[in-house]
Amino acid sequence: MLQSVDLGIFLAFLAGLAALVLLGLQAWYDRRDVILSDHRRINSAFSCVRCNVLYVRPRRREEAACPRCGWNNVRLKF
Ligand SMILES: [Zn+2]
Repeated sequence: MLQSVDLGIFLAFLAGLAALVLLGLQAWYDRRDVILSDHRRINSAFSCVRCNVLYVRPRRREEAACPRCGWNNVRLKF
């Protein structure tokens, strides 16, 4: 009888610990997601190889057409 109570307390302790770990992990992942989405929100910069125009497009993308001549340029890498 005493043993089963101890086991119950132990299991409750484990559940509490697991909940704490999960909450901590969730908080950490949330923070990481914010940092990552901050990165993704950065606009992509392009430089036209044809007419030398610099332009920016929202979000991360590898290619975008030049607003002046329509040439498809590759994203600038810094
Ligand atoms: Zn151009």
